[in-house]
Amino acid sequence: MTRHVLRLVALLLVCLGTGSVQAREPLLLIGIDGLRWDIIDRHPAPVLRALAAGGVRSQGLVPVMPSKTFPNFYAIATGLYPEHNGVLDNASYDEVLDKSFRMSDQDDARWFEGEPIWITAERQGVSTATMFWVGSGVENQGLRPRYWHPFDGSVSNAARVRQVLDWFALPQAERPAFVSVYFEAIDTASHEFGVDSPQEREAVAAVDASIGEMLAGLEALGLREQLNVMVVGDHGMTNLDAERIVYLDDYLDVSTLSSLYSPQLSGERQGNAVFAAWHGAPDQIETLYQALALAHPALSVFRQAQFPDWFHQGHPQRAPDLILMPEPGWMVSKRGVPYGGPRANHGFSPHERDMHASFIANGPAFLAAQVVEPFELVHLYNLMARLLDIEPAPNDGDPARILPLLAPGR
Ligand code: AMP
Ligand code: ZN
Ligand code: ZN
Repeated sequence: MTRHVLRLVALLLVCLGTGSVQAREPLLLIGIDGLRWDIIDRHPAPVLRALAAGGVRSQGLVPVMPSKTFPNFYAIATGLYPEHNGVLDNASYDEVLDKSFRMSDQDDARWFEGEPIWITAERQGVSTATMFWVGSGVENQGLRPRYWHPFDGSVSNAARVRQVLDWFALPQAERPAFVSVYFEAIDTASHEFGVDSPQEREAVAAVDASIGEMLAGLEALGLREQLNVMVVGDHGMTNLDAERIVYLDDYLDVSTLSSLYSPQLSGERQGNAVFAAWHGAPDQIETLYQALALAHPALSVFRQAQFPDWFHQGHPQRAPDLILMPEPGWMVSKRGVPYGGPRANHGFSPHERDMHASFIANGPAFLAAQVVEPFELVHLYNLMARLLDIEPAPNDGDPARILPLLAPGR
């Protein structure tokens, strides 16, 4: 009798604490770099296919522009477009700080604005753990994930899986309710060997097997039934061709434009770009625009005043003055910059089908056996806040867009 009463009191406390009848279901966010929307249809991926078959899959997760790793994983985490979260590309330039940010500045808090989901959760007393995620090593409002690791690409997939399982195996009081994990092997293989290459196929099989191990481990811990899993890509991928390069110096003398700067086309190994932003004095930007606007049919040129709304690049300190965007499969470069790959790339317009990523979700909160239309990845922050039963910070997502993913009553 006493034990029965105690259990009722415990349940009541859980209800008061979470505002819902159930204890908080854990959320596992799996980020897979370069997981194009159709990749599990092109390569064997039994685990991901089974997750999709038993859950909900989108026909495409639409990235933010540019369709690169940093802006997209950070837009997923914050629900904010680049103009609102500060991460405008893998490399960007801040005109007020007079500083370039690159992927190696992964812990520089000045770069990462807005509030990622793990901070929203920690702020509300929900503990989190990140086995890598863009921006997850950055202190924000004095907080960090309860458990996290600085990014290190040499950590094996198996070690990442082991860490995730170790976190979920902690006693309940120490166990994180939100865990992220990141895998870059597919993006790496696609870049080096091309879309549909045997190496891409192998990388898909390897990452798929790692997810299988993780789910089996969660099953063994007795957590699988309550667990919500989200598998997200950051962008797609398309094959390049060393013949499809627009050489800027064929149309202007780049060296004469001394006050112009492009984070994508400067520095070592940055001579070939898919998306290139430029910063500079107005007259030199105008010279660049006049030289390139009609130069090549595969190259689109936009001055800041003409950026379409969907660029979402209007950051107060980091908005480029001019953007070069080639057609899919094309690159911009400078003559004399050796072209040593990649075979395939991303960074093209988010409207291009090849740039769309995968979204697969499975668990008690999600519909089963459903395929939904493509949607933008900025909506995922609201989804994660809802799954974790926490109040989202203001963001660019529309809460109505995630309703078609959820099981009845969720
Ligand atoms: P991309 O050039 O857009 O294909 O970027 C992919 C690369 O981003 C990966 O191969 C990783 O090396 C790198 N990367 C991914 N996440 C992080 C992170 N959190 N911090 C630093 N680098 C990262
Ligand atoms: Zn990526
Ligand atoms: Zn990539």
